[in-house]
Amino acid sequence: MATGQLHIDLDAIAANWAALDAMTAVETAAVVKADGYGLGVGPVARRLAQAGARRFFVAIAEEGVALREALGPGPEINVFSGHMEGDSGLIHEAGLIPMLNSPEQAARHRAALPDAPYGVQLDSGMNRLGMEPADWAATRGTLEAGPLTLVMSHLASADDPSSAQNADQLRVFREMTGGTTALRSLAATGGVLLGPDYHFDLCRPGIGLYGGAPFTDATPVTRLSLPVIQTRHLRPGEAVGYSATWRADAAARIATLAAGYADGILRAISGRAQVFAGDIACPLAGRVSMDLIGADITHLAICPDHLDLICPAQGIDDLARAAGSIGYEILTALGARYTRHYTGAAP
Ligand SMILES: *Cc1c(COP(=O)(O)O)cnc(C)c1O
Repeated sequence: MATGQLHIDLDAIAANWAALDAMTAVETAAVVKADGYGLGVGPVARRLAQAGARRFFVAIAEEGVALREALGPGPEINVFSGHMEGDSGLIHEAGLIPMLNSPEQAARHRAALPDAPYGVQLDSGMNRLGMEPADWAATRGTLEAGPLTLVMSHLASADDPSSAQNADQLRVFREMTGGTTALRSLAATGGVLLGPDYHFDLCRPGIGLYGGAPFTDATPVTRLSLPVIQTRHLRPGEAVGYSATWRADAAARIATLAAGYADGILRAISGRAQVFAGDIACPLAGRVSMDLIGADITHLAICPDHLDLICPAQGIDDLARAAGSIGYEILTALGARYTRHYTGAAP
């Protein structure tokens, strides 16, 4: 079998949710967009519901439908992209709550599903999604007269506590939402860590649940083991892989591993990351190719069956640093070819 083995510790996800929940005095939801940050929305969300999460967030209505199938009736499912054309049937049938992002979306929602609950997303300075202050001022009265559940906004720089943008967005969010009777939410993982001023009624962490920065105290969630397909001995001067970017300066032993950029192992880590035999590091040798990676195992006494790319010694943020990326991208890039093993699945 030449598939990488991706181990996902659902108990660790539940522990991370509980740890983030314990940092605030308010409710903690869970963001499970993009298939639970690439780890499998069904098992992830069921385990989080078992841990106590009652509100979930996804990016698009189709994800909400899949999540409803996984969770059954009960938990609240909120959709960041709001109410797009063609979403009405999905929102109605799966009982989703769209975060309305514009007066147009508000009008669409009112016309299609006049009694169905909704939230509103406000733009407090990120300029990505949500109603601008003027849109909100113009529609607020009508929106607050209906079944408005939640008013939220998103911080652009919460991973950097020293950024002045945090306090700016906090001030704008307070100004825009003063006097509302709906629940208020501003904080994702970074906002939880910024402290109680940012918590309002509801926090909605994503990446911290999955073991990523800025929640540096998170319990690691993933381990990725790659099978060794073949090993070979190189003479000094021989090269490995496309364009011969790695060359042996002495006699070397190279292991060829069964995974590549088609599995989400970013090509940018070529020559910049390692694989691990237990806690012994083996540098990558040559370019990551589509289905294969080379590693220098000259210093290992025996050649193992597997080498780990993601493990305690090299977490998702270490890999991200090697690739010039972020843990979010490492996780959501994890490929479909891996065999996935879950521990701690909810019944
Ligand atoms: C993705 C997302 C979150 C979760 O953010 P993390 O940094 O992963 O905790 C929260 N709110 C919005 C609007 C998002 O897009």
